[in-house]
Amino acid sequence: MDWEKYKEKLPKTYSEKDIALVKRAFDFASEIHKDEKRESGEPYITHPIAVSLEIATELELGPYTIAAALLHDTYEADNTVLDTIRKKFGEEVSFLVKGLTKVDKIEYHGAERSAESVRKMFMAMAQDIRVIIIKLFDRLHNLETLHALPGEKRERIARETLEIYAPVADRLGMGKIRLKIEDAAFKYAHPKEYEWLVKETREKVSEREEYLKKKVIPLLKKELQKEKISIQDIHYRAKHYYSLWKKLLRNNMDWYTIYDLAAVRIVVNSLEDCYAVLGIIHKFWKPLPGRIKDYIALPKQNGYKSLHTTVFCIDKKITEFQIRTLQMHEEAEQGIAAHWAWEMAGKPREIRKMPHQKTAWIKQLREWHKQFNKNVSSEDFLKSLKIDFFKDRIFVLTPKGDVIDLPEGATVVDFAYHIHSDIGNSISAAKINNHIVPLSYEPASGDIVEIFIQKNKKPNSKMLDYAKTPVAKSHIKSALKRRNFLSKFSDKKTEKIKTELNIIVEERIGIIKDIGTILSLFRINVESFITKETDNKYASITIAFYPKNKEQVDKIITRLKNTKGVEEVSAKNKETKH
Ligand code: MN
Repeated sequence: MDWEKYKEKLPKTYSEKDIALVKRAFDFASEIHKDEKRESGEPYITHPIAVSLEIATELELGPYTIAAALLHDTYEADNTVLDTIRKKFGEEVSFLVKGLTKVDKIEYHGAERSAESVRKMFMAMAQDIRVIIIKLFDRLHNLETLHALPGEKRERIARETLEIYAPVADRLGMGKIRLKIEDAAFKYAHPKEYEWLVKETREKVSEREEYLKKKVIPLLKKELQKEKISIQDIHYRAKHYYSLWKKLLRNNMDWYTIYDLAAVRIVVNSLEDCYAVLGIIHKFWKPLPGRIKDYIALPKQNGYKSLHTTVFCIDKKITEFQIRTLQMHEEAEQGIAAHWAWEMAGKPREIRKMPHQKTAWIKQLREWHKQFNKNVSSEDFLKSLKIDFFKDRIFVLTPKGDVIDLPEGATVVDFAYHIHSDIGNSISAAKINNHIVPLSYEPASGDIVEIFIQKNKKPNSKMLDYAKTPVAKSHIKSALKRRNFLSKFSDKKTEKIKTELNIIVEERIGIIKDIGTILSLFRINVESFITKETDNKYASITIAFYPKNKEQVDKIITRLKNTKGVEEVSAKNKETKH
């Protein structure tokens, strides 16, 4: 796509200066990617162009975000590019591109680390909502062209999307992109299930849609007009495949529990109208008990607002309705990105009640949002949403890319103990991003931490100064205790020395048993016990064992010498036990 065509699709609100900035990013990215191809064989630049345009048209974000989206993959080509970007495009754009490069290092491979901590890390490292938005659209475009990748890689990306990206989009209330990336990833993460579901729903959905389009919606429109309720929009939407799949799994694959395979969505002007529409629907059709959900009075944790009801509709078909205002609708689709758009358009602001939400950070976002006045620009608003929800946690990576989350102020020693107590106990050195650091070093979010261990090394009491977390401290303390305990024995150095006794005995019945009794009295662990006949009269017995100490050996020898039939006892030390 050439610049002229691209320019036409940018938001109409952009100034000359805004457009000039985007143009420079467009040219710079085109230059950097000029010899690169995507796996599909297309020129690489088609990818950043598609991603940035999608953001521009869907969300109408500001020029810094669009420029960063154009530049989001340039650093792959060359690491020095970030410096150039700072010089050419300024701090704001380079901050965003840098955020994107950090987030890109996070890889999720499944179970080892909880998906939750990877999600947190994702958000903590992005540091800015705009970085997350660009990553979500980047991922969507990659999923749409995923067929070009080899199977294994395809599946990993698809799973990572379902586990990490989709929940992050959900938390930001960005329902539209969440549903898109979920369905795009579902196809590759669970191909058989996807195929089955598509086949299974094809008829059901089209039958449903016919019914809603021809019967329900016309009747409803007429009735709402009678009541003088003006409708912004009334449409039906088929349930998305992945959310349908999850619901079926939850409900034992029972299709009869799926009432929203295709639901009717009514968008009205005001809050009062929402409740009025609900009343009208219930006047005509009987609601299913327990299926009325007032997400306006009690929004979902991600801020979602709507009224839902499920009724026995025309021909007694069970049908779900969703009722909302235009603002609620846009917020449901675009989440956090929709908030400022309303401010900008200067439309009446609804009084936002703060419900008691568990997700503190969404609440915080909204609080901040409230503090902003109407004249603030979109870019400034989003800039204000720098994420420090996790400011008391740091998220660091192992060289393999696993995420370890630690409290702020934790050191590389804490990191080592959080991987495994053995690693902590035998830590000898540490590297951060490939540079040697002291053991007292405190890594920052996004750092790659590598631990070097020394076999048989035991922690000393100095380690307690380096450790900040209770987990590491308790491991060190118990290792120190263990060491003190052992050192009591190691003072008497014979402990680990194998001793061999040579006994010459006169052959008699019961002599072996007598010797055995003596050995058992001293509770020694005999390693070998060899009897050899020398002639008719004498035999030689060799016993190897690990005595507690020298005194024990002397006592055993004395006892043996006092035993009837023992002619001679000699002792010698053998090798050291390892
Ligand atoms: Mn990309």
